[in-house]
Amino acid sequence: MGLNASVTDTKRAPHTKFDVVIVGGGAAGITVAAELRRHRSSLTLAVVEPSDTHAYQPGWTLVGAGVFRREQTIRSEEGLIPKGVAWIKAAAAGFDPAANELSLSDGSTVSYRYLVMAPGLKLDWDGIAGLKETLGRNGVCSNYRADAAEYSWRCLQEFRGGTALFSQPPMPIKCAGAPQKIMYLAADYWRKQGCLSKSRIEFCLAGDALFGVPFFVPPLKDAVQRYGIAVNYKYNLKAIDGSAKTATFSATAADGTTSEQVKHFDMIHVVPPQVPLDVVKASPLANSVGWVDVDPATLRHVKYDNVFGLGDAASTPNAKTAAAVRIQAPIVVSNLLAVLDGKELTAKYDGYGSCPLTVAYGKIVLAEFGYGGKITPSFPLDPRVPRRSAWYLKTKFLPWLYWSHMLTGGEFDIPHKERAFSAT
Ligand code: FAD
Repeated sequence: MGLNASVTDTKRAPHTKFDVVIVGGGAAGITVAAELRRHRSSLTLAVVEPSDTHAYQPGWTLVGAGVFRREQTIRSEEGLIPKGVAWIKAAAAGFDPAANELSLSDGSTVSYRYLVMAPGLKLDWDGIAGLKETLGRNGVCSNYRADAAEYSWRCLQEFRGGTALFSQPPMPIKCAGAPQKIMYLAADYWRKQGCLSKSRIEFCLAGDALFGVPFFVPPLKDAVQRYGIAVNYKYNLKAIDGSAKTATFSATAADGTTSEQVKHFDMIHVVPPQVPLDVVKASPLANSVGWVDVDPATLRHVKYDNVFGLGDAASTPNAKTAAAVRIQAPIVVSNLLAVLDGKELTAKYDGYGSCPLTVAYGKIVLAEFGYGGKITPSFPLDPRVPRRSAWYLKTKFLPWLYWSHMLTGGEFDIPHKERAFSAT
């Protein structure tokens, strides 16, 4: 069934049909394509992806801290599309799941028997007034874009004391720990440079807790205290004026009243609000707020039996991370093949996600957890303890695992499991 099994680029194909179309060639899309190809090479597969490059985004925290170079995190998309999988170099522009079709940004249409939705989410840079105009200048940086992450490292190096702000928008965001990871690394760097005592560091977050899983809050509070960081809960960044060096927040007080708070900064690390992609939100595949509406366990669409979704685009209430994608991809593949073979769907996702919290250079609290805040570590060690071994995991092992195993469909994994730990 299907056409064009050996096509590698169908850029100008007017109308094409595939057994499986995967929307998005990021962490989730490429992993699913590679695993499907390994398990069932007879299927015709296509990846719809407009970008020429693919980024290992977990590396951007390290780019911002001067540990990785930007080039280490970027590869050509072409080199990652598995052999025998067609690359449709266009963006999905509309979905008609009742007709098993999607339209593309080049005006063409593609049909499928099965659809896998993995287009990620939208970084809403416009959600903060003035940000786009000043990002990458005036001490305004962000690890959420490769070039702006390089600028983060410059800001860290050029900071000699004064006020450094770190913002965090409302959840969900990808890698919920990333807004504070760079803050601890910056503080540790300034401590080593001897300018921490001349600095005022403030963490301004829209939420009311340092981390969504309470189990991991104590080691983060320790870090906040150690570096003398002031934490402003329920501070939501609304606007930035780069040349005036001011950031405007909407602050909510304990009694629920809101006020506008303007803060001066010498440098600010900004994390943009994160929302579903417009094209997904406008489609019948979306839930009421715009995420791809899938069952949290099987990852199959709740209305369309031949559609699956995973990664940042999915409605599942897990931490949006590449670690989650690593666990989700084999579940999608197993369940998709089960539907294709007329079998029961037996693979179930437990909500696993992971966030390596860089509390200092060389020290990481490896937060691993599942649905409902269950603590599901890969190693039989108390995960609240900052460890050097976890730093090696983050800087050496996980990038290798990503490029060499995950994206090639290797399905290698360190099994995680729920474990109980004492309260302290
Ligand atoms: P992506 O990898 O973003 O891929 C989505 C793809 O879809 C992109 O290639 C995009 O071009 C494409 N696309 C967009 N629109 C369309 C369209 N209309 N049609 C077709 N294709 C489209 N995760 C961890 O596990 N650990 C970490 O330590 C970690 N740290 C992070 C730090 C930062 C600063 C950031 C930004 C992310 C971090 N993450 C981390 C999160 C992780 O990178 C993401 O969760 C992961 O990349 C999600 O994979 P995805 O395939 O769903 O989305």
